[in-house]
Amino acid sequence: MAEVSEKGSISIHTENIFPIIKKFLYSDHEIFLRELVSNAVDATQKLKKLAALGDYAGELGNLTIEVKFDKENKTITVSDRGLGMTADEIKKYINQIAFSGAAEFVEKFKDKTDAKDIIGKFGLGFYSAFMVADKVEVISKSYQTDAQAARWICDGSTEFELTSHNKTERGTDIILHVNEDSTEFLDEYRLKGILEKYCKFLPVEIKFGTQQESVEDGVDKEGKPQTKTVTKDRIINNPNPLWAKSPADLKDEDYLAFYKELYPFSEDPLFWIHLNVDYPFTLTGILYFPKVKNDFELQKNKIQLYSRQVFITDEVKDVVPDFLMLLHGVIDSPDIPLNVSRSYLQSDGNVKKISQHITKKVADKLQELAKKDRKDFEKKWDDISIFVKYGIISDEKFYDRVKDFTLLKNTEKEYYTLTEYTEKVKPQQTDKEGNVIYLYTTDAGKQDSFIQSAKNKTYDVLLLDGVLDNHFINTLEQKLEKTQVKRVDSDIADKLIEKEIRPESVLSADEQAKIKSVFEKAIANTNMQLAVEALAPEDMPVVITVSEFMRRMKDMAKLGGGYGFMGNMPDTYQVSINGNHSLIAKILKEEIEEKQIELAKQVFDLALLSQNMLTGPALTQFIKRSVMFVH
Ligand code: ADP
Repeated sequence: MAEVSEKGSISIHTENIFPIIKKFLYSDHEIFLRELVSNAVDATQKLKKLAALGDYAGELGNLTIEVKFDKENKTITVSDRGLGMTADEIKKYINQIAFSGAAEFVEKFKDKTDAKDIIGKFGLGFYSAFMVADKVEVISKSYQTDAQAARWICDGSTEFELTSHNKTERGTDIILHVNEDSTEFLDEYRLKGILEKYCKFLPVEIKFGTQQESVEDGVDKEGKPQTKTVTKDRIINNPNPLWAKSPADLKDEDYLAFYKELYPFSEDPLFWIHLNVDYPFTLTGILYFPKVKNDFELQKNKIQLYSRQVFITDEVKDVVPDFLMLLHGVIDSPDIPLNVSRSYLQSDGNVKKISQHITKKVADKLQELAKKDRKDFEKKWDDISIFVKYGIISDEKFYDRVKDFTLLKNTEKEYYTLTEYTEKVKPQQTDKEGNVIYLYTTDAGKQDSFIQSAKNKTYDVLLLDGVLDNHFINTLEQKLEKTQVKRVDSDIADKLIEKEIRPESVLSADEQAKIKSVFEKAIANTNMQLAVEALAPEDMPVVITVSEFMRRMKDMAKLGGGYGFMGNMPDTYQVSINGNHSLIAKILKEEIEEKQIELAKQVFDLALLSQNMLTGPALTQFIKRSVMFVH
């Protein structure tokens, strides 16, 4: 056994790279622990592999990785029982490989400010220890028979010291002598928090050994229970997370239990997808469809991204298509680079493929559900429609994948696919140009009188009251041929769907002109455009509408869609006087003009009232007038 005692200088052109590393990595210091524990896991996995291949014949023994800290001596230690390193290997792997990664990193990014995004790409792993430590010590004994243990120590300059050591157990201890600025890490809760964040699902058991716990310790003379404080070791991770298992071995309960493990306070998910891809990239994971209603902004950033069970981030933007960000769960892929910048992710071929794959899987799953049990799918629809609609709006391909089972819900709470719905309404709701007109309401309560008028004409009304429905409607019109979508209150029932034959007016042209002038005097508002129409006698005497076009333009202006000028325009309303209503005939018969105007005001106010548009002094006047009428 050769005794080693060596001092040396790490050959590198940049002097003192550590101040630079420290500066760059400032905001992310805590990842040092992730890097060191991942290295310990790798060393353990490599040893297991050697044993499986028959290249290591010794006992594997207990392979648990241990993380400890010592507040007094200001150290944090990560110990593994993996394959270890000989002195030569330390020189090779720690001095050269790890260092060259760090040096390359500094060379490339010393002038940039976003370097913290790029650490992982350069295998800066081991050297991230210097973000929190003045001195780092490596004590290691290789698995190889008769290997002499070695100790390496470096204070963050390019000088190192390498000596032999009397360590007898196989494996590696990395001891960090924590620097003055980083004493926050010498804290049980801080360290435990970091371990739980990054190492919760690492594939080798990790023990964090400094929890103090109160336990019962018999009774005293008076029979009172006594407690004592003991140090308890705890395994902080679940080395066999569900996504790494085979779907064939798993039951629904397992998926639900894992969901609770990830999101302790959430309602059960609706369903889930177990991802398992080997080619052309490696991807495992479980995506859950949560129960969401409208507050979907709050639910974002719920998907966790892992690389070989090491937690990377919960900001999965760019890896998961935007519309699937509302899903929950985990994605694990060694093909997603760690800690890389946004722009890098966006241009990464693997990331794009992964995103497309996830989209396809989600569409497949929806299709499977729709086919398997239509009734059940309908029950779930209200909860999942937000994903589907978001997908349809934002991704052409997704629309093609889901169009056959995208559902529309009407005011009767019946569900139809797009084709079913067109078939259903075609006979009644085709206009004279041959367009099928879909009618919808955004608020069944407020628009009730319009819904009733439409139903009187045997029209069907869809309920499209979701946050995304505005956009969804636009997309539908673009996708569906010869189909228009109109809100039920955008015109009087007769005009919503223009037919060849319109009901005839019972009024003569003279009478029409007369009644119009009465109403003009009664209303006297230029934003109200009056017209006498021949509506059904059972419709309301006066109907107020805002055209579909005007309303959509205004909605767009609100959303800032380049129609800003519309936002400042006054609302203009169509006022349709129902010439076929008996009340209109009554007004015409009235001899005194004042009386006529009074009655016209009353029916107009009733129309405003039915639309929730009658407020302030106008409402007070209406009530006073009504009192007089019934007096
Ligand atoms: P990376 O892990 O990306 O290769 P690191 O800088 O983290 O880069 O580590 C450099 C090398 O040092 C590793 O590839 C490995 O060979 C060796 N090494 C680091 N930690 C350990 C350990 N705990 N046990 C055995 N070898 C290790």
